Amino acid sequence: MKTNYHIKKEDFVVILTGAGISAESGIKTFRDSDGLWENHPVEKVATPEGFRADPKLVWQFYKERYNQLSEVEPNPGHYALAELEDYLQGNFSLITQNVDDLHRRAGSKKILEMHGQLNSCFCTRCKKHYSVKDIDLNIDVPSCIACGADLRPDIVWFGEMPYFMDEIDEALRKATYFMTIGTSGQVYPAAQFLLFARSYGVKTLGVNLTEPENRSFIEEFHLGKSGEVLPKLVKLFIN
Ligand SMILES: [Zn+2]
Repeated sequence: MKTNYHIKKEDFVVILTGAGISAESGIKTFRDSDGLWENHPVEKVATPEGFRADPKLVWQFYKERYNQLSEVEPNPGHYALAELEDYLQGNFSLITQNVDDLHRRAGSKKILEMHGQLNSCFCTRCKKHYSVKDIDLNIDVPSCIACGADLRPDIVWFGEMPYFMDEIDEALRKATYFMTIGTSGQVYPAAQFLLFARSYGVKTLGVNLTEPENRSFIEEFHLGKSGEVLPKLVKLFIN
């Protein structure tokens, strides 16, 4: 493996990770090929309408996803990104489309979880946030201690605005490198970040099992598993 780039401590690196890096740890995510997420139609478990129609089913689904987190571990790709963040100190931002906690557990600190996170939920009325570990998951639909309304998973569903869009744009404007990892290039708005990065004059890189749809916007592309490519790539970047 080789790279054209050597990353200096003064550089600012922005990373975007998608389902591919979690899949290597054994987490199944929504596949748009068949419209199912762990055998559930996405409109039932990943839309505001689905939650209104059957909050118990939706909570059951996310409780299972939450419980699955204790059965999986970060992989070498997650650890390599934490190592890169350590090297760059503050000059780093990790955007993820994933809702698991694997980046955090691998030691990443500056994470923008644009699609929310499984270990958080919030009140549908007063918006108070709760950590899922503080919630009684034996209750079908947990309710807010402050106002009594239903809580919902802190997941950005289809039809909802992703989190941190301003922070993401700000990071991309500051960046010298932008690297997408494990994303198909099909999920918007994340797929557009490559376009923005190119328009801001940022060097773009990609790592994925297959060539993503927006391959033409990636200057240096590495084909392979992120758990195998990233540890080597990060070593080359910083040594
Ligand atoms: Zn409330």
